Amino acid sequence: MSSYKIALLDGDGIGPEIMAEAVKILKLVEERNDISFELTHAPFGANAFFESGHPFPDATKDICDKADAILKGPIGLSHEESQKIPVDMQPERGALLPLRRRYNTYVNFRPVYLPLGLAHFSPLKPEIIGEGIDIMIIRELVGGLYFGHKETGINEDGRRYVSETLEYTEDQIKRIMEVAFKTARKRKKVLHNIHKSNVLKSSVLWNEICVEVAQDYPDVEVINILVDAAATYLCLNPGMFDVMVMENMFGDILSDQGGGILGSLGLMPSACIGPEKAYYEPSHGSAPDIAGQNIANPYSMIGSVAMMLEMSFNLDAEAKRLWQAMQSVFAKGFSTPDLSKAGGDVKLVSTSDFGDMVAEELASMPTN
Ligand code: NAD
Repeated sequence: MSSYKIALLDGDGIGPEIMAEAVKILKLVEERNDISFELTHAPFGANAFFESGHPFPDATKDICDKADAILKGPIGLSHEESQKIPVDMQPERGALLPLRRRYNTYVNFRPVYLPLGLAHFSPLKPEIIGEGIDIMIIRELVGGLYFGHKETGINEDGRRYVSETLEYTEDQIKRIMEVAFKTARKRKKVLHNIHKSNVLKSSVLWNEICVEVAQDYPDVEVINILVDAAATYLCLNPGMFDVMVMENMFGDILSDQGGGILGSLGLMPSACIGPEKAYYEPSHGSAPDIAGQNIANPYSMIGSVAMMLEMSFNLDAEAKRLWQAMQSVFAKGFSTPDLSKAGGDVKLVSTSDFGDMVAEELASMPTN
């Protein structure tokens, strides 16, 4: 029997609520497969800061270091509550970016997926959705503006200033491009390279490397699109995209737009992969506006579990069944409140009910 250690970083806001559903599923996967998971919860984010004075405490680092994979809930507080934490200790700067840096998780896979049967969740018109939405956004996760040199101070004129640097080396760009081309090769063999080379020199280098890496993938067609235009096309014609590759900040923003065209950020799981360690997290934040009400959509968290089963534990078939189980719950007419906005005849269920229903669906499927 294979045995794996998983660090569970519940996070803030809706984090613990959706993590509880992920744990239900992990326990069921254990029962159904020749596998055992050692699950260890560890504080991370604003809760950790208030408990121990640091959003990524040493004890949590130790648990993550020893883990085979990390499952992370969203972190963060409302804008107003965040002001209670010193700027450098606020959850993203003090915990999330250090987590990504520690494990060099340079690839972020963010699937934007809505099968035709669930098209009613999308705010887009049926004629725009066509055969459904199925895009893989690949975001570079440890470079660019978020990780470059930062400086604040008072300039010669006595005025406050801030400076943040967008930095990439050719090696950083090359390795994410390799992942993007390999992914495109496994799918429709079309790669949309998202850039802003009309303004940013970083994008000029980005595009040069894209052309160089493309030499090794002659079977993959590359289509270059400016990031601002890509934002428009995501709304007007999402079907034109299959695999999209982009730098860190573009990916942060466009992938949230991906959640928007699906109908909710609650449909956005993700995988963050480094050379030796991977962590999995919903793409969205801690949703303080709905925290504590048992109404958050746990799909993003359970979907992150599915990505972990496939990418960290080679349980591809079980991962597929888990996706199917979630789609079946929706297909039977159930949904969480975030997905009821589009109207239609939906039966509203709570976070924990949704988790139970997914578990029931999965339990009813054969293993092999
Ligand atoms: P958010 O992603 O938390 O929420 C945006 C909107 O989407 C809200 O209306 C929210 O209710 C809804 N939403 C998000 N997830 C949902 C789910 N699973 N089910 C139903 N509805 C859902 O963005 P925000 O409000 O701008 O940020 C809140 C906090 O999260 C901030 O502190 C921010 O810094 C942080 N944040 C953290 C991460 C992360 O941990 N990786 C990512 C983004 C934002």
